[in-house]
Amino acid sequence: MKSLPRKGRSSNEVLDAMRDLKKEDVQWEDGRVWCLVFHAGDEISQFLKEAYTTYFSENALNPTAFPSLKRMENEVVSMATRLLGGNDYTVGNLTTGGTESILMAVKTAREWGRDRGIKKPEMVVPTSAHPAFDKAAHYFDVKIARVPVDKDFKASVSAMRKAINKRTVLLVASAPQYPQGVVDPIQDIARLASKKGILCHVDACVGGMMLPFVRDLGYEVPPFDFSVPGVTSISADLHKYGYAAKGASLVMYNSPELRKYQYFAYTDWPGGIYVSPTMTGTRPGGAIAAAWAIMHRLGFDGYREIAQKVMQARDKIRDGINAIPGIRVPGTPHMSVMCIVSDRADVNIYEVGDNMSAKGWHMDRQQDPDSLHLTLNFGHIEAADEFLSDLEDAVAAARSTYDPEAAKKERRRNMLMKGALKILPGPVATKATELGTKIMGMDGGLPNRTAAMYGMMASLPNRGDVESIVIDLLDKMTRHEPGTKPILPEEE
Ligand SMILES: *Cc1c(COP(=O)(O)O)cnc(C)c1O
Repeated sequence: MKSLPRKGRSSNEVLDAMRDLKKEDVQWEDGRVWCLVFHAGDEISQFLKEAYTTYFSENALNPTAFPSLKRMENEVVSMATRLLGGNDYTVGNLTTGGTESILMAVKTAREWGRDRGIKKPEMVVPTSAHPAFDKAAHYFDVKIARVPVDKDFKASVSAMRKAINKRTVLLVASAPQYPQGVVDPIQDIARLASKKGILCHVDACVGGMMLPFVRDLGYEVPPFDFSVPGVTSISADLHKYGYAAKGASLVMYNSPELRKYQYFAYTDWPGGIYVSPTMTGTRPGGAIAAAWAIMHRLGFDGYREIAQKVMQARDKIRDGINAIPGIRVPGTPHMSVMCIVSDRADVNIYEVGDNMSAKGWHMDRQQDPDSLHLTLNFGHIEAADEFLSDLEDAVAAARSTYDPEAAKKERRRNMLMKGALKILPGPVATKATELGTKIMGMDGGLPNRTAAMYGMMASLPNRGDVESIVIDLLDKMTRHEPGTKPILPEEE
């Protein structure tokens, strides 16, 4: 076990160790990481850091102590709601991220439902919507009905209609959904919610700060915001296409009456009367200040210009992918979020992913259908040509190493596993899956070549087993194992 060092080190020693440590990470600066980081250029990053540190110590928990943060937050909400079709009644709060925004919207819907006598509220959510909705269901004991999407990956309005019952309080749609980047038919879903007298949340976490500019540039964007009748709340992340510092998202409502269900107050504490808008207690001032700062630094025209360059790169990359035999971009992505699927038996898309990883490109693996994910933002524009040429090579390499016999064997093993897991009792099935993961070399961390593992995981019918595998993995990763080499060498 690592214990607190007896003696402190010099600032330089600590900072140098951290800079060194970073070398273990994916290198996003050259645009090779297609998720997790949104970058609007070095000059903007420098500016954001300065804005952030200007409010490094301040805490937005108490708005009367820091009225400046309150003013910035209110301006950020106002600018965003205007951008998203809101009016003078539209209200919102800054949260630390999309997940917190979604948690708040679901919690609000639950309280709204309870106020109407629905003891066990439920929500209807397309399969494509973000797992934060399942997290909210899990945390707040709201039942979630996941309903299939249509062939074009858009939420199926008829499936959603069928899933509604007396306890349903909320319908969810995404603008766009993350896996394939398509905007759901929000007008129809919001109309359905309105007809049923229930709430409709639009998850614009990834699209909220991009789609308004994409639309302004003349690209086709289906109506998705507060201008659509029936939309009662929207989540939109500032730390994605708002290019703000991490820890900044928005949850917005079409009326203050609805937002009141989000709030929490406890008035009997000896420590004083406590009132809080969102999940967190202490609220870092830096994230709020940086969000306010970037919106003023860029302005509408700045965001529009960035969006234009990103969309030009999107067109080039989408067309480039579609021109490579064996792979394509499925669906019709409305902005710069998309994925790559294989359309030939001899191209295993996970193998393509492994080949790209070997060249330093990092893409998320997806399932149903098996695919590689791209969230294209300003930081990727320069890398577009190299990406396409490496991708072409990666596909060719996957085809040249394709072994029909081995593929058949793998399919058969996955099928067997499927069959076995269906008939084996739970604990035995879990053991079998554990064995399977050991065979894949997944025990004790992720293997270098991940194609076989992702293939197996995607095909397992017993999702409870996959859940227990990944939770075990997370448990292992979030522990200090004995014998681990310390970051800073121990002092004598
Ligand atoms: C990123 C994302 C979220 C979650 O946001 P976090 O900031 O990661 O918590 C929710 N929905 C969609 C569509 C997203 O892309």
